[in-house]
Amino acid sequence: AKKDGRNSFRFFEAGMDAELQERKAMERDLRVAIQNNELEMYYQPLIETHGRAMQGVEALVRWNRPGFGMVPPGDFIPLAEETGLIIPLGDWILRTSCRQATEWPNLFVAVNLSPTQFKQQDLIGLVKQVLHDTGLTPNRLELEITEGVLLEQTAYSLMTLRGLQELGVRIAMDDFGTGYSSLSYLQMFAFDKIKLDQSFVQELGKSSGATSIVRTVLDLGRSLGMVTTAEGVETASQRDYLTQQGCNQMQGYLFSRPVPAAEIKNLLLRTYPD
Ligand code: C2E
Ligand code: CA
Ligand code: CA
Ligand code: CA
Repeated sequence: AKKDGRNSFRFFEAGMDAELQERKAMERDLRVAIQNNELEMYYQPLIETHGRAMQGVEALVRWNRPGFGMVPPGDFIPLAEETGLIIPLGDWILRTSCRQATEWPNLFVAVNLSPTQFKQQDLIGLVKQVLHDTGLTPNRLELEITEGVLLEQTAYSLMTLRGLQELGVRIAMDDFGTGYSSLSYLQMFAFDKIKLDQSFVQELGKSSGATSIVRTVLDLGRSLGMVTTAEGVETASQRDYLTQQGCNQMQGYLFSRPVPAAEIKNLLLRTYPD
């Protein structure tokens, strides 16, 4: 038994080693990818509910890692957060998305901000500089943040949010409903938009609980004067329920997957009929 225990302990250690090495390798490759411009932004349409036309796009980063293929952002964004690489990466994402958006005069662009980016020194100065450098009008930029960002340093966060809004940029609360204290945060921070998390949208029609939550969140957003967006809309019946409940915008595979910048022009010619 003692020997078994020891072996499994050593096996565990070796496993940790391999994991650590892989993380180190990924960090090294990501650093190179940022320097060599190997990342690409994809854009997913946000559809206005009544006109059924594209109103804006969400910018989503993609990394085609040499020798590995497409790495999902859910795998490398957390690593970038932990290693500090999110600062140069986030800078690149913001600049690239704003520059790209100037080619689509009728669309806004929504850019995701991770917690570390949100807390970086002089975020307001950076956003102002990027808008100036790219020539994008502030009201065509939306920044998406998650509740986690606001958990600490409330006073500082409040100041940063207000400062960004004073530039004319809109703030969206992303993944709404998945974090803590949603209601108190909504009251304290005057978001311009709430994005209902896709986990609720995908339960529509399957669970009465999720259906009530969706209705309640949409009512809440409306009564607080916020634009409501639903993400992860995949079926016509989800779309129809959300339309009936007065959701302002929708995003999901039913309309379009995230696509490379060059494809947005073609999608602009499309309508999104029944
Ligand atoms: P998110 O901000 O909630 O982005 C929405 C995710 O849902 C995207 O995944 C999108 O491709 C996916 N999605 C859109 N429509 C549908 C649908 O109908 N069904 C399903 N099942 N999924 C749908 P993606 O691109 O893999 O991004 C995952 C997460 O990684 C994002 O979640 C965001 O938290 C993070 N992320 C992505 N790009 C960036 C970025 O540029 N900066 C930062 N900081 N985070 C990013
Ligand atoms: Ca988002
Ligand atoms: Ca989201
Ligand atoms: Ca999400």
